[in-house]
Amino acid sequence: MKSMRNDEPYCGFCLKQNKVLKKDNIILHAGLEAFICDDCVETFIFIKSKNFTRSKIGKKLLKHNVYS
Ligand SMILES: [Zn+2]
Repeated sequence: MKSMRNDEPYCGFCLKQNKVLKKDNIILHAGLEAFICDDCVETFIFIKSKNFTRSKIGKKLLKHNVYS
């Protein structure tokens, strides 16, 4: 995932641009190769949580090894 270009940084996951995120007071975190916004960080924390892995979709994803 390469997204380090000279234009406005954006979240590599939801693809929202920094200026759009700023309007909603969402912080963009710099990673090694891409940025990630607070919203997506929360999403990933939720995906890693037991609540998600126990949910219907979570079980399906685990079964297919979509995220491991
Ligand atoms: Zn995002």
